[in-house]
Amino acid sequence: MPAINRNPTSFLGEEYKALVDQELDWRLRILQGPSSTRCIVDGKKVLMLCSNNYLSLSTHPKLIDAAIRSIKTHGVGSGSVRPIAGNMDLHIELERRLAKFKHAESSLVYTSGFTANSGLIPQLVGKEDLIVSDELNHGSIIDGVRLSTAERAIYKHRDVTDLGRVLNEAEKHAPAYRRILVITDGVFSMDGDIAPLDGIVKEAERHGAMVYVDDAHGEAVLGEGGRGIVSHFHLDHKRVHVEMGTFSKAFGVIGGHISGSKDLVNFAYNKSRTWLLTASHPPPVAAACIAAIDVLENEPQHVKTLWDNTNYFKKGLVGLGFNTGNSQTPITPVIIGENATAKKFSQRLYELGVFALPIIFPMVPKGTARIRTIMNSALTKNDLNDALAAFEKVGKELSVL
Ligand code: PMP
Repeated sequence: MPAINRNPTSFLGEEYKALVDQELDWRLRILQGPSSTRCIVDGKKVLMLCSNNYLSLSTHPKLIDAAIRSIKTHGVGSGSVRPIAGNMDLHIELERRLAKFKHAESSLVYTSGFTANSGLIPQLVGKEDLIVSDELNHGSIIDGVRLSTAERAIYKHRDVTDLGRVLNEAEKHAPAYRRILVITDGVFSMDGDIAPLDGIVKEAERHGAMVYVDDAHGEAVLGEGGRGIVSHFHLDHKRVHVEMGTFSKAFGVIGGHISGSKDLVNFAYNKSRTWLLTASHPPPVAAACIAAIDVLENEPQHVKTLWDNTNYFKKGLVGLGFNTGNSQTPITPVIIGENATAKKFSQRLYELGVFALPIIFPMVPKGTARIRTIMNSALTKNDLNDALAAFEKVGKELSVL
């Protein structure tokens, strides 16, 4: 008989300690006050260079006013899941406004981007189907794929030729797959490069496959007025069948969403357990998201300034001699190499008043540890010059330059 384990939870402490020993644990910083470009982290005034709040909408007066007003009219909670008693007029209005913004027939809001991916992907494809996924897709897509009973195939990062090879192979499968889903991030969060969505769509069309894009980092950044990657490539929802996104990044609030055909939305909300079985957003969340769409429609200067800042900062980094990889967007990695150097780099930046975190193995391949910077439309030229001066100083100190 096996010995009785007197402490069935001993693994918790042991596994945590193993992470600490390998320096793979998360040591959480504390943001004291709002997420703004000049903010306080762990008691120190710093320049924020790693938030997803690209347009600083989280502190925009119109969003704050809308949130406060909605609390007064609707309260702070929705009281239920949407299919029972939690389907408020604010949720319906948000979906109507989002669909209009995205030029889509219909949109559906989930509580987060993660729950959109993990809840919808396993419903779109099952046992007789195939999912074809970019090798660097986000973890929420990976979890959605894992929850599905479909077969999986991976294509090389942003490589349309390799996608074609995978789809050609899939044609030979017997019995023939019932459905094929090609899935990609729109903007890749570790490198800031853009998926070649036009090529992906053409390849998928050749094989009768569905196309699903996760545009978490492309919304309010790419496309006409920040409408995202589908707009950026002049595509539409007859060709990109699921355009998924999040309100947690450039929209400045929280919440996931999908846009596409009316059929997609009817299917998605009747089938996704992460939609059916979780409470709907509190009124201030829905109201602030509606206000964010208002701001994007009426204040185009934020997206423009974001790009001006991005170009200025990227040029500055490259001019200093840093390697910024293949970034094409406001996510600009500064590739350092070894994990320990990237961590030291981030710590020194913090001491100099710049908050930008290291991304290390296993989140990125060995030898490509980096400082990931994310641009913000509210940063001034002075802020950017201060940040560049700090990067130059630390780069020289640590012999990265
Ligand atoms: N997809 C991508 C590409 C992301 O970067 C993220 C956020 N890290 C998500 C999905 C999840 O979005 P949310 O924060 O709304 O859950």
